[in-house]
Amino acid sequence: MLNVDLWGKYKRLRETVYKKYSKMHHAEHLHGPNVLVLSPHPDDDVFACGGTLIRHISQGHTVKVVYLCNGGKGITGKSETEAANIRKQEAKAAAALLGLHEENLHFLNMPDDRLFRQEARAAALLKPLIDRFKPDLVYLPAFTDNHSDHFSTNRILKATAPAKAMIAAYEVWTPLVPNLVVDISAEMDRKTEAIRAHRSQLHELNYLDAIVSLNRYRACLYTKKKMAYAEAFCYAPAPDYFALFD
Ligand SMILES: [Zn+2]
Repeated sequence: MLNVDLWGKYKRLRETVYKKYSKMHHAEHLHGPNVLVLSPHPDDDVFACGGTLIRHISQGHTVKVVYLCNGGKGITGKSETEAANIRKQEAKAAAALLGLHEENLHFLNMPDDRLFRQEARAAALLKPLIDRFKPDLVYLPAFTDNHSDHFSTNRILKATAPAKAMIAAYEVWTPLVPNLVVDISAEMDRKTEAIRAHRSQLHELNYLDAIVSLNRYRACLYTKKKMAYAEAFCYAPAPDYFALFD
């Protein structure tokens, strides 16, 4: 973990993005059509925005996922190589359940928990993908999310400078300050199946209850529309989002 000033980061988020783009809103039609998801570990994509990705695909958008770390430290009792292999298979199975084709999954195979040492290398691997794909929208963990690899993912994207993209920052380890809520009530069953595909991770922690509860919490707190489950994001143009952290 980095020794981050989480409260300072939250304040910057609230005082800039949240005020500028103000009110929490609900999006029926999502921005696209080229959607890139940065998933620091092989499960963050499904946990954080799996329901929203199903909706993008049903709108006809192209969704590509880049998995930065190999997940090699994520299975107790397994070597890094064994764990990385298992988790890659789980990521593919889970992504297929969301409707993602394997050709749209990219594994950078960086070592787990040490991304901060290899941000320049990761950015060099990511840049050609971004230049080719030209994403209109990029999902990534919020820079306030309390995991070192998740923060590094923000710095890596910033280094590739996709200036024209919109950013939708998501939450995994730390609830964020949201200004966008996506109703995933109709997609929740499929999302739950995709979470279950990360079998090795459900043995480590009860991610299923954590994520289902988080999605339920977001739905309950959004009062303007009745929904059963929702995913929440901090949504802003890339330059505004990147200005929030170094
Ligand atoms: Zn992660």
